[in-house]
Amino acid sequence: MKILFACSEIAPFSQTGGLADVCAALPSALAEAGCEPIIISPAYRSVFNSGIPLKKTGISFSVPVGEKIVEATLWKCLLPRESLHVKIPVYFIQQDAYFDRDGLYSENGWDYQDNCERFVFFSRAVMESIAALNLKVDVLHTNDWQTGLIPAYLQILYKDKEEYKDIISIHTIHNLAYQGIFWHWDMLLTGIGWEHFTFDKMEFYGKLNLMKTGVMYADGVTTVSPRYAMEIQSPIFGCGMESVLQYRSPMLRGILNGVCDKQWNPATDRYTEVQYDSETVFEKKPLCKQALQKELGLPDQPAVPLFGVISRFAHQKGIDLIADVIPLWVEKHGVQFCLLGQGDRTLEGRIADLASRYPYNVAARFEFSDALAHKIEAGSDIFLMPSRYEPCGLNQMYSQLYGTIPLVHDTGGLADTVVDLNDETTETATGFSFFADNVHDLNTTIWRALNVYWNKKDVWQQIMLNGMRQNWSWSKSAAQYIRFYEKFLSGRKD
Ligand code: ADP
Repeated sequence: MKILFACSEIAPFSQTGGLADVCAALPSALAEAGCEPIIISPAYRSVFNSGIPLKKTGISFSVPVGEKIVEATLWKCLLPRESLHVKIPVYFIQQDAYFDRDGLYSENGWDYQDNCERFVFFSRAVMESIAALNLKVDVLHTNDWQTGLIPAYLQILYKDKEEYKDIISIHTIHNLAYQGIFWHWDMLLTGIGWEHFTFDKMEFYGKLNLMKTGVMYADGVTTVSPRYAMEIQSPIFGCGMESVLQYRSPMLRGILNGVCDKQWNPATDRYTEVQYDSETVFEKKPLCKQALQKELGLPDQPAVPLFGVISRFAHQKGIDLIADVIPLWVEKHGVQFCLLGQGDRTLEGRIADLASRYPYNVAARFEFSDALAHKIEAGSDIFLMPSRYEPCGLNQMYSQLYGTIPLVHDTGGLADTVVDLNDETTETATGFSFFADNVHDLNTTIWRALNVYWNKKDVWQQIMLNGMRQNWSWSKSAAQYIRFYEKFLSGRKD
């Protein structure tokens, strides 16, 4: 099975978030499972600066964008993944006027004004690449709004052509909050007729919506956890798209993202003070906690509970809730918090104030640091993730594998991966979760967790071990994607 992955970012060449990791990890797992994935992505400035040599393919072609004809040039390399036995080709589409910039989608907090035009170009160029490279793909797998036009191009402009007639398309929603909504005149850029600008296709409250376009035209739609797949069909989480997703629900599937065990494994972690597994965790993990306290300037207090947070600082992630609860737990109970993240300046400011008000209890770093992220996962006792919504989330999974107990809001992928401790789950619990995203529920649940931490050491240790035994390998996710692709591939032969 040949799968063309079209994505607007791909690690380690271009990255703004988890999407880039998924777009490298999932094709890798599919290759290990015997599929033939190919990746295609824009040739941003960061791609040429990545230090990984690219080769010219010698292939260029013209792409219509509105009334313009724009040249696309293809570059190629192999996905650099040490552990992978099979080599995955990655093609990059170069057009410097669109992609030779400092950012991927924005600069200094402002979206590029021509984002619609840039991704119309990219989407159309992906379609042209299939013929130009004679790819003979079975599945066209698109991701988020940036590639949402591709399933529409396939259905509307390319399905009649020999090279395209048997291709099926799958569109994955990684985060529904970002939909690629543009004014209606941008329809002219797409080259698709106005008859498709209707409420059941590309139109959304008078505007062009590229995520909706992908959802409506793809044969199958996936998102990154089963719970999120249900939630986005409701008004609270649907971001206005709930009825569109209800309509497509027979073809909508939630498939949990995996964890790369080469990167996130306490037994082989090169960043942590010591390495450990479930046999040695109780003896060695305290050394990681001690090293983390030292590195962050917190007092070396083994018995004081240490809460960890690694996150984009955004309203989605509930950082404001964390800021609201910190004073109570510091002042009344002497608890420690360490936070790593960046983003919203107001949230950074609130956390910075708390760090200066409570220097012995709160440490914060406003940067992106993979090394510190690993040390926090290994050194904390409890990992806080009160996200208001969370399509999948990764840190709650990393935490469990590191014997760090997650405390999460019961939503999306957090709900699918954390088993809350209650009377019925004493054998299986892997963490603590709360139902309403407010300070009261968060405080009650912190209290519930600390009561176990302080008073029921055996239960605490059991929860740690339950978490460390979880298996979120990418091969499990890949098997589900393959079954989903096959559902549509078998249909095409009818
Ligand atoms: P999202 O993609 O919504 O930001 P995820 O939990 O799906 O959230 O993925 C975020 C990933 O980025 C996680 O692996 C997390 O550890 C990592 N991350 C986020 N902020 C930082 C940071 N400041 N330093 C290091 N890693 C970070």
